[in-house]
Amino acid sequence: MARRDASSERGLVALAGGAGSARGRGSGRAVSGKVWLVGAGPGDPELLTIKAARVLGGADVLVHDRLVSQDILDLAPPSARRLYVGKRKSSHSLPQEDVNDLLVALALEGFQVVRLKGGDPFLFGRGGEELLACRAAGVDCEVVPGISAAVAASASVGAPLTHRGLAQAVTFVTGHASIAADGAAKEPDLDWAALAKANHTVAVYMGLSTAPMIAARLILAGRSGATPVVVVENASRAEERRVLTTLAGLPEAVRELDGPAILIIGEVAALAAISPPSQMGEGASGAGEGVSAALGPSTAFGGPPPHRVGRI
Ligand code: SAH
Repeated sequence: MARRDASSERGLVALAGGAGSARGRGSGRAVSGKVWLVGAGPGDPELLTIKAARVLGGADVLVHDRLVSQDILDLAPPSARRLYVGKRKSSHSLPQEDVNDLLVALALEGFQVVRLKGGDPFLFGRGGEELLACRAAGVDCEVVPGISAAVAASASVGAPLTHRGLAQAVTFVTGHASIAADGAAKEPDLDWAALAKANHTVAVYMGLSTAPMIAARLILAGRSGATPVVVVENASRAEERRVLTTLAGLPEAVRELDGPAILIIGEVAALAAISPPSQMGEGASGAGEGVSAALGPSTAFGGPPPHRVGRI
C-alpha cells in the first residue's frame, strides 16, 4: 500500500532548515547545497566505490531506500540526518515526485544531500527523474555510479554476462509489471523476439514474481526451454542464495525465493559455479558437465559465506 506522508516530509525539511547547516546559517537561504545521486552497489560495503564512501562521509542528509545496507549507511557521519523513503515493488512509501521535491528542498536549504540508491542510480533506479528535478530547480546534482545487481550477481556466481562463443550481447530488462486498475499484473513491454535470440544474455531485474510469465514468453518466442538460468538472490550479501535451473524449470525454481533477485538467462548461466555445500571442494569438473548434472531438479543453496562455492 502506498503511504503518503507529506506533512512529516515537510516537517523534516523545515527541521532540516531550522537546524541550519554551517553553510546555511547566517546567510539567509543558502545556495551552496548539492544533491549527490550515489550508487550504493548491491549490498556488500566493499563493493562501494571510494568516491561514494567519500561523498557519504560529507553528507548532511542521507536519503535512502530499502536496498541500502546498514553498514553503508553507517559510513555517513553520526550527525547526518537519515531519511528513509523506502520502496518495495508496488509499494512506495513516498511517491517519486515527493522524493524529487524533498531532495530539491533540502539542497536549497544549503545541505549536502546524499541520495543513496541500491546498485547504480541510473539502472532501474529512477535516478534520472531525480537528476531532472534538480536540473529544473537549478540545483547542482552529481551522479556517482554504483555496481549494479546484475554485474554483482554475475561476478558472484562466476557466470560472465558476455563470453566468447556463448553471448555476444547482454540486455538489462525489468520484469516488473505495473498493476492494472483491476488489480491484475500487466506484462512489461519487452521485445520478446529479440530477447529470445540464442547467444544473448538477458538479465532481469524485479523479475521474481513475473518469472513464470517471462519464461513462457521467451519459450513462446523461440528460446529453448533448456536454456540455462541462474537466479541470484541478495547478491553480495551474507544471505545470498543462488538457484541454477533452466528456462522451463524457472517457475518452479523461484518459488522459494522472495528477492531481491536477478535472473541471468542465457548460455552463460551454464558457467555458474554452483554446488550444494555438501559438495564443496569435492571433485571439481567442467562447468558444462556441472550444469547438465544440476539441471535435473533445480539446484538451490544459500547461507554465508557466498563466495565459498565449489564447482559441481
Ligand atoms: N539500481 C539497482 C536496481 C534497482 S531495481 C541496481 O542497479 O542494481 C531493484 C531490483 O534490483 C530488485 O528487484 C532486484 O531485481 C535487483 N537487486 C537489487 N539488489 C540486488 C541484490 N543484492 N541481489 C540481487 N538482485 C538485486
